[in-house]
Amino acid sequence: LEHVKSVDPEIFKALSLEFKRQTEHLEMIASENYTSYAVMETQGSVLTNKYAEGLPHKRYYGGCEYVDIAEDLAIKRVKEIFNAEHANVQPHSGSQANQAVFFSQLKPGDTILGMSLAHGGHLTHGAKVNLSGIVFNSVQYGVNPETELIDYDEVYRLAKEHKPKMIIAGASAYSRVIHWDKFREIADEVGALLMVDMAHYAGLIAGGAYPSPVPYADFVTSTTHKTLRGPRGGFILSKEQYAKDIDKWVFPRLQGGPLMHVIAAKAVAFKEAMSPQFRQYAIQTVKNAQVLAEELKAEGLRIVSGGTDSHIVLVDLRPLGVKGNQAEEALGKANITVNKNAIPFDPEKPMVTSGIRLGTAALTTRGMKEEDMRRIAKNIVKVLKNIDNEKVIQEVKEDVLSLCSSYPLYPEWTKDYLG
Ligand code: PLP
Repeated sequence: LEHVKSVDPEIFKALSLEFKRQTEHLEMIASENYTSYAVMETQGSVLTNKYAEGLPHKRYYGGCEYVDIAEDLAIKRVKEIFNAEHANVQPHSGSQANQAVFFSQLKPGDTILGMSLAHGGHLTHGAKVNLSGIVFNSVQYGVNPETELIDYDEVYRLAKEHKPKMIIAGASAYSRVIHWDKFREIADEVGALLMVDMAHYAGLIAGGAYPSPVPYADFVTSTTHKTLRGPRGGFILSKEQYAKDIDKWVFPRLQGGPLMHVIAAKAVAFKEAMSPQFRQYAIQTVKNAQVLAEELKAEGLRIVSGGTDSHIVLVDLRPLGVKGNQAEEALGKANITVNKNAIPFDPEKPMVTSGIRLGTAALTTRGMKEEDMRRIAKNIVKVLKNIDNEKVIQEVKEDVLSLCSSYPLYPEWTKDYLG
């Protein structure tokens, strides 16, 4: 990093501080992960210089023969991992992948049925503040108040009543298995298209630790940077019959030039996701989340829906009388990074909340296992029970620092970043 250090010391300082933060904190934000050296090298490569509007071998620019190799590989690999008929790897983000699917099939004012943000769905699944909720007539389903599992009866009832043109399955704060087959049945019953946004679960699905939606959905969208452990970005899988529609909605209708450095880094991440080690990673990520949930329960917290089948643990803090925003702040001081999160039927406002969302994807990448999860759970509860006690928070921070130093992150880059 000597160039950025001399050209722009202020930015170098931010990079250096962020490197230190990542290495010295327990990263428990469920949507985050650490990419490999290979993914990082590729994303920071000469491919960032290249314009390549169009698709491989059909570009609007010269000199695309080598970036074509990268995009061809990304497409081939992602189709193989998920057993999909068609793939577009150009969406700059998960949100743009969703927009491309919506606009390829829907007209403004059409009805969509998606999971509500308040119950664990994503903004782009029809929330009123998002383009999806502004442009389309959005109807939202949620979880059953008793079981806190997706209420498939409600999905069916709403689908019958509102006749959506598209049903959206997938979530950002739902830890259990989503029954893609039930969504397919409901979609068929009312003549709707089914889009699954598997952004959170993609790596687990690639590693065989969570069921695949691909056999059931007309469209599957995803990000590449969560459990899939790639660069920040998105992709779309679809049945072959929709291939042309999807491709033209990504470019030229929504996006311009694809980010070829990111697409090449996606290809690298896909290759990594095809390895036996990645299967182990996916399985361990879920095991870690299950142990974390059990241990937090044993320490007196309530886990939404009683447990987890994924990398996500949604925690109800009310048994300890703590709010989500207070927990996020206090845990942050102890170097444990989490986000406050609404729990279903949350009485608190979104900026306060009664819950936190935890994830094990990044910790598992670092190599942590069950015994580390037990230690972390105890530390989390220690902070939550002593939210105003700086001395206890400091003690936990010391333990977190020692745990982090047992699992070094990017050790080959320590000198570059920290000088
Ligand atoms: N879909 C789901 C289910 C997500 O959880 C997210 C991100 O949190 C997205 C889409 C959006 O992805 P991006 O932030 O890349 O736009």
